[in-house]
Amino acid sequence: MHITERQKKIDEKNLSVTCVIPVHNEEALIESFIVALKNQLSAITHHYEIIAVDDGSTDRSVQNIIPLTQEGKVKLMVLSRNFGKEHALMAGLEHSQSEVTIVLDSDFQHPLEIIPEFIAAWAQGYDMVYGVRTDRKDETKLKRSMARLFYRLLQKISKTSIPSDAGDFRLLDRKVVNALNSMEERSRFTKGLYAWVGFEQIAMEYTVSERPAGKSSWNFRRLASLALTGITSFSDIPLRVWGIIGFFISFFALIYGVYTIIAIALDETKNPGFSSLMTAIAFLGGIQLLSIGVLGEYVSRVFNEVKKRPPYIVARKYGFADEGND
Ligand code: UDP
Ligand code: MG
Repeated sequence: MHITERQKKIDEKNLSVTCVIPVHNEEALIESFIVALKNQLSAITHHYEIIAVDDGSTDRSVQNIIPLTQEGKVKLMVLSRNFGKEHALMAGLEHSQSEVTIVLDSDFQHPLEIIPEFIAAWAQGYDMVYGVRTDRKDETKLKRSMARLFYRLLQKISKTSIPSDAGDFRLLDRKVVNALNSMEERSRFTKGLYAWVGFEQIAMEYTVSERPAGKSSWNFRRLASLALTGITSFSDIPLRVWGIIGFFISFFALIYGVYTIIAIALDETKNPGFSSLMTAIAFLGGIQLLSIGVLGEYVSRVFNEVKKRPPYIVARKYGFADEGND
């Protein structure tokens, strides 16, 4: 869509906007959040909808959302279990048909007030607007420094430049959503895929608000697993670095072997000693195990991809035209 056309759509309040929100155990907030989001969106356009994707909540989140689906503006997809936020987002994106799709958390941590700024940037011709958090004060020092380390590492070893501190608070043009939906990748590192698809992108700063209620569903294991998916899906360095290290180790071992032979020939060999032998064996054994581990990581990814399992299963739908099971 041309820029003038975009602006015209906005001026006429004719722009179709879908907000995709993942929901996992947000019973305390979800109703007020959806109402606040509706208020924000209705000021922008007449054609908005909210797709809430319940990602296996075990509390009353679903029951709290269902009444809101009556008016036709809110749709709800209930996944059959907890598939993880990345998959919940994928489910929502595949059901968005609007010109503009906005993805944001359902816990008030992504400030709704800057949605108009996102739309304004879209009107200027950007196809993707992503929120970049100015601070990570709400997080523990450990989580913060781990995140920093992760992004720095990822930027060094990945060919796709993935902006750090860019989260899942985004505006996506139809083109971008189509591109993302066309990807068959199952274990997804969405942040990487957003960067990978390209298009005109712009960053927009925002400050993360505190969670008014409920608690974060993230724990160390989840983050570590996401980080590993991020690294293995956007870099093949871990796979290749072992070949290089292996090459150098064998190379020096060869030189050392030649040196030993000469030393023996000249009868200058000292007792090589049991401990040095053990060190060498342990060292090489360790390297081998590590490289097998790295191989395993990639092989398991190949395994996951070739299984072609659906990345999520929708159990029920509310407010959609094709309501019911599918
Ligand atoms: N979420 C989800 N599935 C999960 C975990 C979280 O859909 O398995 C949702 C959650 O409801 C929220 C968003 O993802 O809307 C961000 O989650 P959370 O607030 O727990 O993460 P944090 O903000 O601490 O990174
Ligand atoms: Mg949160």
